[in-house]
Amino acid sequence: MKRVYLDYAATSPLDGRALAAMMPYLTDEFGNADSVHSFGRRAADAVDTARRRIASAIGAARQEIYFTSGGTEANNWAVKGVAHALGRTVKKRIITTAIEHPSVLAAARSLERYGFDVAILPVSAGGVLGAETLRGALGADTALVSVMTANNEAGTVQPVRELAALAHEYGALFHTDAVQAAGHTDVDVSASGVDLMTVSAHKFGGPKGAGFLYIKKGVLPDKLIEGGHQERSMRGGTTNVAAVVGMAEAFALSAAEMERNNALAAAAKDAFAGHVISNVPDVRENCASSPRLPHIVNFTFFGVNGDALVQSLDLAGIACSLGSACSSGSLEPSHVLTAIGMPESEARSSVRFSFGPGVAVDDAVYAAGVLADTVRRLRGR
Ligand SMILES: *Cc1c(COP(=O)(O)O)cnc(C)c1O
Repeated sequence: MKRVYLDYAATSPLDGRALAAMMPYLTDEFGNADSVHSFGRRAADAVDTARRRIASAIGAARQEIYFTSGGTEANNWAVKGVAHALGRTVKKRIITTAIEHPSVLAAARSLERYGFDVAILPVSAGGVLGAETLRGALGADTALVSVMTANNEAGTVQPVRELAALAHEYGALFHTDAVQAAGHTDVDVSASGVDLMTVSAHKFGGPKGAGFLYIKKGVLPDKLIEGGHQERSMRGGTTNVAAVVGMAEAFALSAAEMERNNALAAAAKDAFAGHVISNVPDVRENCASSPRLPHIVNFTFFGVNGDALVQSLDLAGIACSLGSACSSGSLEPSHVLTAIGMPESEARSSVRFSFGPGVAVDDAVYAAGVLADTVRRLRGR
């Protein structure tokens, strides 16, 4: 059976060139980057080079890049680390949005236990946080504002630069979860002015279990993991050398090839979406008039159970998802789709398809044909 993978927002395949860069560090170059001997120094050099490459790709200094095990960890660190560091002052307010990844939302909510005032702001029906909504929530007591650069379910892009400037007017720090945006849009921190930024390797052809948190010089969140001097003593633990080398390679490649990759993904996505819109009745492309990432499209198939649709498509060889892989399996409808104002029944009828440079236009059109047949069958007509 032909299989088509349309779930790049959940994870992407490892780029062969990133794998090639990693291989030495999975084999002969096995040293611990903290050892003083030549084995260690060679590993340390590789880690240092990876840090420099990543820093230069986002307009940061290498001392501002902190390696983590991925996006979930970096988001938890940014939100809790800043809150706990600043919460010892009068700054007891944390602001985020209703469409964040669960790792930001759950981290923010956990702070309520420590006496923080956590504001979860609504977004527009187009999935965008308005500056005036943020302004209304900001105050001198605000420690942190966390707003994602782009949403992983609807693909909507936030005006991060404008929102960060607004947070700064009130003396608040600004964090952005750029996991879904990195590799697809420019995530230069000197241009956006953010104080902290989360990136994860496996969304742009890097290995799973690798990511980083950019922390602007002078911003001091609490340490994440004690007991090791790695990552400037902020996040202890022996460095996963191969993973950071692979992440740096994939990140540099995705930056160098961004235009081409976006064009390929968009061509497949547009062919797919066009076919769906002309062949499936009672369908809506969500957030269609908002600024969106080129590789994500979210459709509501009225009267169809999204869960059943994803499962039927899987049996037919097409991989897609209801939304966040992290929240699938839960009985709740997508918190993102309900936050953009969808009734629960429509949210339950919505499916995300996400594309990458590896999806051929022919395969995208084939998948749309399978989708049209499957929707017809599930509707019983
Ligand atoms: C995938 C994703 C994460 C989680 O990153 P992991 O490295 O898988 O932990 C966080 N935020 C967004 C927007 C994501 O798409």
